[in-house]
Amino acid sequence: AEEVGGGDKEVVRDYFTNDGFQRWKKIYGTTDDVNKVQLDIRIGHAKTVESVMKMLTDEGSLKGVSVCDAGCGTGLLSIPLAKEGAVVSASDISASMVSEAQKQAKEALEGKDGVQIPKFEVSDLESLNGKHDTVVCLDVLIHYPQSKADGMIAHLASLAENRLILSFAPKTFYYDLLKRIGELFPGPSKATRAYLHSEADIERALQKVGWKIRKRGLTTTQFYFSRIVEAVRA
Ligand code: SAM
Repeated sequence: AEEVGGGDKEVVRDYFTNDGFQRWKKIYGTTDDVNKVQLDIRIGHAKTVESVMKMLTDEGSLKGVSVCDAGCGTGLLSIPLAKEGAVVSASDISASMVSEAQKQAKEALEGKDGVQIPKFEVSDLESLNGKHDTVVCLDVLIHYPQSKADGMIAHLASLAENRLILSFAPKTFYYDLLKRIGELFPGPSKATRAYLHSEADIERALQKVGWKIRKRGLTTTQFYFSRIVEAVRA
């Protein structure tokens, strides 16, 4: 895959506000105008959301629990969280994503008993502040090299009182993914670089700020790989 600007945050923001927004809105949507690869990613991502919801609800009800969904995309996690009664603060670096998420959440949640519509905000996760019981950041680290990811993880941990859930593309699948990455990001106009992370590096970044991994999950489909970790204070 062609590299366009590497992990530069401005490039990522621009991508997810424009071309990348159109592309990912389709992948994360329900329409059938997706190709085989996009459909595979849609299914894989839905499995990740499902695993994360299970990890969270296994520990008890989410009613009234504050959850920060950092890099919320089109709201595919924020919406089920709100349905479970969580008080959700959702944010994304891309204004396009945030307005799409807002629209989706309104459609899915308005008028439902015991459900608070998530509070949406355009913000990169590095600028977020405040405290939440739980912080979740799904499939965002793939856009950043480990050198940046360390700081992002430290910041996310500082926002969480009890629990931090991260998902990332694991390096174990490096060669598999490399083979397929051309299909994932075909052509420079659609390209952002995908960074894979080793689980040991993520674990080290968590340990450095006093957190330990309590649960692990893994989603793999043909074109989608995502390691999920749930961390708590060590
Ligand atoms: N977390 C969502 C989900 O799983 O449905 C969206 C995942 S999507 C692959 C990556 C998202 O991360 C995009 O919406 C993008 O705009 C957002 N993003 C990228 N860098 C970010 C940053 N530094 N801070 C906040 N959001 C970011």
